[in-house]
Amino acid sequence: MTMDTILGGNYADPAFHAQGLYIGGAWLPGTGIPVINPANANTLAEVPDASAADALRAVDAADAAAANWRTTPARQRAEILHRWFQLVTEHADELAHLISLENGKALQDARGEVAYAAEFFRWYAEEAVRIPGEFRHAPSGANHILVDHEPIGVAVLITPWNFPAAMATRKIGPALAAGCTVILKPASETPLTAYALARLGAEAGVPPGVVNVLTTTQPAVITNAMLADPRVRKLSFTGSTAVGRLLLAEAAKTVVSCAMELGGNAAFLVFDDADLEAALDGAMIAKMRNAGEACTAANRFYVQSGIHDAFVAGLTKRMAALKIGPGTDEQTQVGPMISSAAVTKIDRLVSNAVAQGARLHTGGAPLPGDGYFYPPTVLDNVPLDAGIAHVEIFGPVAPVYRFDTEETVIRMANNTEYGLAAYVYSGDLTRALRVGKGIESGMIAINRGLMSDPAAPFGGVKQSGLGREGGVTGILEFMEPKYFAVDF
Ligand code: NAD
Repeated sequence: MTMDTILGGNYADPAFHAQGLYIGGAWLPGTGIPVINPANANTLAEVPDASAADALRAVDAADAAAANWRTTPARQRAEILHRWFQLVTEHADELAHLISLENGKALQDARGEVAYAAEFFRWYAEEAVRIPGEFRHAPSGANHILVDHEPIGVAVLITPWNFPAAMATRKIGPALAAGCTVILKPASETPLTAYALARLGAEAGVPPGVVNVLTTTQPAVITNAMLADPRVRKLSFTGSTAVGRLLLAEAAKTVVSCAMELGGNAAFLVFDDADLEAALDGAMIAKMRNAGEACTAANRFYVQSGIHDAFVAGLTKRMAALKIGPGTDEQTQVGPMISSAAVTKIDRLVSNAVAQGARLHTGGAPLPGDGYFYPPTVLDNVPLDAGIAHVEIFGPVAPVYRFDTEETVIRMANNTEYGLAAYVYSGDLTRALRVGKGIESGMIAINRGLMSDPAAPFGGVKQSGLGREGGVTGILEFMEPKYFAVDF
């Protein structure tokens, strides 16, 4: 492919991004994976289905580029990342359209995602030149302790479909800033955004082989092949806890360093003393960003008895007023779910909860038609042992539970294997902080419906993950400390 075809073209056009696997700076044509528009079940484009041999070719390319990239001055790496940030920003509208097409999310969500995604390049361009080292005196007085941080090596990055741009840049940004070369395997539901980012990266000056992108229908086969290759030293995964467990077991065979951003079951707590309107505003963001297809999405609303009925009435009114439609329509607020299987799962969770005694206030059944639409839904009186209280809903459904005391609600919030995100609304900041301390979660939003920020450490405790992405420490996930014992 010539430079002209790389630079030209419409970034919103699916066909433009279905050029092939991106390995060693070249596009290797292929087909085999149809990319479906979830708004109407039509095929948007077809991308290649990589084999294990292709994956090892990508490891060859990443390894061949590694020596030069790790010794490229940090300032130069930073400037390339900064140019990449600028190009993503310049193409923001086209990228948002592409994301809406293949993922289904509403354009307003897609625009938010592109801005968030670009920020990881800008933030890590700034961090690339601030990689810390350490100098200490050994307590014994025998020597000095010098600690350097070196790039860990070739990194395999695996991302989900729910944030096709941001989950990729949240890994590529720190990896490249640290001096690592990468192989990105995006979800096969949303590969076009990943290829679009790679194209902009090449334009920004990322050298061939530093970023490689593979799509496949056999993620286990190609990932296992890469993890068995001793040149691969890092696996950074974002996806479900079930797949995370499998990958941790696989990575154990070659003792590959793992970062795991896994599932969530976020509790959203509203105390009687909360500002009701603010809590409803926050609830709509925490629940409905991405139509509920977010790992941080509020999955369980715990509302104190004194404010419970007013909260349910207010939430029902707001949820029922949302405009449903194809994500690419400018007026749409709730796009389709990613697949018909996702709709079936949500429908089952809601029907079972209702059969167990939950009260339905709005929504509650899939919408007819070819697209994968499920309407905004509010339930209350949900039994604590209903499946919906323990499983990631990943859809526009808000189950509300009543509580009376601080102690009980902390126990309820912690009754899950997950520990990614939680939200607390209270007019008493001391109480909100105390409750936040009691909740087993990597992230707590207080009187806010959104916590994601490239400058903050994102990640979970318990079975929501290992390690953190973003913030000042995110870069260290892609580095290994090397200690020198030095006698002057
Ligand atoms: P998923 O686990 O099914 O897939 C994630 C990625 O892993 C995809 O690229 C998929 O192709 C790949 N994959 C699947 N099986 C694999 C295997 N055996 N070996 C190697 N790779 C494999 O998750 P999903 O449905 O794409 O995404 C939704 C999940 O992601 C939810 O659980 C959500 O909470 C989680 N998520 C977490 C975060 C976070 O930061 N903690 C962010 C976004 C999404």
